[in-house]
Amino acid sequence: MINSVSEMQKICSGIKGTIGFVPTMGYLHEGHLSLVRAARKQCSNVVVSIFVNPYQFSPNEDLALYPRNIDRDVKLLTELEVDFIFFPTEQEMYPEGYKTWVTVDKITQILCGRSRPTHFRGVITIVTKLMNIVDPDYMFMGEKDFQQLVVLQQMAKDLNFRTKIIGCPIVREEDGLAMSSRNKYLSPSARKDALCLHNSLLLSKKLFKQEIISSNKIIAEMSNLIENNNGIVDYIEVVDSQTLKHLAELRTGCRILVAVIIENTRLIDNMEM
Ligand code: AMP
Repeated sequence: MINSVSEMQKICSGIKGTIGFVPTMGYLHEGHLSLVRAARKQCSNVVVSIFVNPYQFSPNEDLALYPRNIDRDVKLLTELEVDFIFFPTEQEMYPEGYKTWVTVDKITQILCGRSRPTHFRGVITIVTKLMNIVDPDYMFMGEKDFQQLVVLQQMAKDLNFRTKIIGCPIVREEDGLAMSSRNKYLSPSARKDALCLHNSLLLSKKLFKQEIISSNKIIAEMSNLIENNNGIVDYIEVVDSQTLKHLAELRTGCRILVAVIIENTRLIDNMEM
């Protein structure tokens, strides 16, 4: 396990062969591990970072409560034969006097950016820093955070990073709930209600197969299902998968993205049509 930026940078610059990188906030579950396996399969060296990035949480969010278990994480990553675990402190990533932020226009102000206005600035900044430290050939990210994936691909393209960012499929619990560290916050009854995210997406797919293509109509049906299961809709949007532009009508290959508050926990999910 490496804690220092300069040491991680030195190691990575001396690595022979390809580097696959998986950035995480730890408290690993099968979703994270699927990214590590994809990296292991494709690259000769695998680096995983664990850093709960304070700047992607807003003041009213759950930074202090965010679940952590570094010993278990290290054990899981060792079993998957990860070469290096980068586990820096906050002081190491943001030393006193830190002043630089990376942002991406427009696509960070929609969807999750609307209710979390400073979130993507935090995410883009930390991932830019990590990419500069590790300089990976490939970076593996989950489609679970679909907007994040598109935003970071845009950043990497605009800032001329050589790294290829690979999106990996969403890993779900047996009953369909997308795996997330935040699922831990759900009470047993809320855990059942939380199935409404996936179920609403399955419903949208079913309606699309019946040739219903009006986004408004599909969103209305999904909202009903979610509200009937005690969910509060933050957003449901039909978007183009590449640009995240709103679509008035569904078409093959588009994505539906949802964010729903269950109890006090905000959960996200999405599905390709
Ligand atoms: P996090 O630790 O929440 O920052 O997530 C680290 C990476 O794991 C991100 O690229 C996420 O998109 C990905 N990830 C989280 N949950 C899942 C999941 N259920 N399936 C696939 N990837 C996931």
